[in-house]
Amino acid sequence: MKKKFVLSSFEFQKYFNTDFKCLNFLEKIYYEKDGVKCGHCSSKNISKKNKKTGFYFCKNCNKRFNVRTNTIFYRSKIKLSKWFYAIYLLQTSRGGISSLQLSKQIRLRQATAWFMLHRIKKAGKEKMIKWRGGVSIFK
Ligand SMILES: [Zn+2]
Repeated sequence: MKKKFVLSSFEFQKYFNTDFKCLNFLEKIYYEKDGVKCGHCSSKNISKKNKKTGFYFCKNCNKRFNVRTNTIFYRSKIKLSKWFYAIYLLQTSRGGISSLQLSKQIRLRQATAWFMLHRIKKAGKEKMIKWRGGVSIFK
């Protein structure tokens, strides 16, 4: 059996230290298989990406969307890089991580950290998308 490769914390921070990098990563894994789809209705009848806002417009349901739409990152003001790091911490810690620990690590209020952990856990393991071996992201 192959040994599972997990990014070190140092490597992780190098790859995912900005929201731009995280967003690009998400677009790559979510849209790679069958192209860009509307996050609301899954239609492919969409406009080009607005370069300023990073949003697409769906000509089918007339809503705008981006890669965060209807994922666990949807409708949250928390930076994507913080979400990524929270998921990373959760998946690399042996006994899980408390909302207090997380809040200290990413410098957010404990209530916010609790909300994040709740969402991440709720997303369920079967929906995990794996990348680079050990680390994964939810949709
Ligand atoms: Zn749509």
